[in-house]
Amino acid sequence: PKIVIAIDGYSSCGKSTTAKAVAAKMGYGYIDTGAMYRAVTLFFLQERVSFSNKKEIEAALDRIHITFKHNARTGKNETCLNGLNVEEEIRKMYISNLVSEVSAIPEVRWAMVAQQQKMGRRRGLVMDGRDIGTKVFPNAEIKVFMTAETYIRAKRRQQELLAKGELVGLEEIIKNIEKRDLIDTTRSESPLVQAPDAILLDTSHMTIEEQVDWVIELADR
Ligand code: C5P
Repeated sequence: PKIVIAIDGYSSCGKSTTAKAVAAKMGYGYIDTGAMYRAVTLFFLQERVSFSNKKEIEAALDRIHITFKHNARTGKNETCLNGLNVEEEIRKMYISNLVSEVSAIPEVRWAMVAQQQKMGRRRGLVMDGRDIGTKVFPNAEIKVFMTAETYIRAKRRQQELLAKGELVGLEEIIKNIEKRDLIDTTRSESPLVQAPDAILLDTSHMTIEEQVDWVIELADR
């Protein structure tokens, strides 16, 4: 039977890399909910939406359409904002620096959660984020909560950025990770917290393959 696998946790623990690989191996769909909050952040910046003006925020949200497209040529998933591929742009540091502030806005969360729940009507899905097991799919059959040591997370994030041509110092990355974790865990609307029925996975000393196998074994049980 096809199920929903919810993968939540702190920033840069390897959630999306793991989720993507699990989905591919199981023949499931994959949805990166962080990409959706990143796309909203990009749109707010482009349209100069004030982060504290509810009316502007609501009007902007009505004009945002986020989709995911599989690029057969590159084999990669692309996040599209109103039809335009923004995959590369939303991974940049200036978006990472503002995304947690934007995703703490209740109106933003209500809009995104509703869209994510619609996408989940198709069973056989791996979804990663911060509130999937607690809010988006509280009935998910499998819930994983990922964590890893901050220094290790920062090192991994630095490698990822470097591979994309963005050179960022470790100090700046650590600051960003700690700031995002703090905002994510203390916001009023569905804060980041381990669901009571989620299983904790510390990826500090695991390889990607080990993480993927661990989740698949859990799902196969
Ligand atoms: O997963 P990623 O690091 O790309 O997510 C970017 C940001 O989006 C997170 O730091 C968090 O503030 C927010 N987010 C969220 N809820 C989700 C997914 C991401 O608040 N389900």
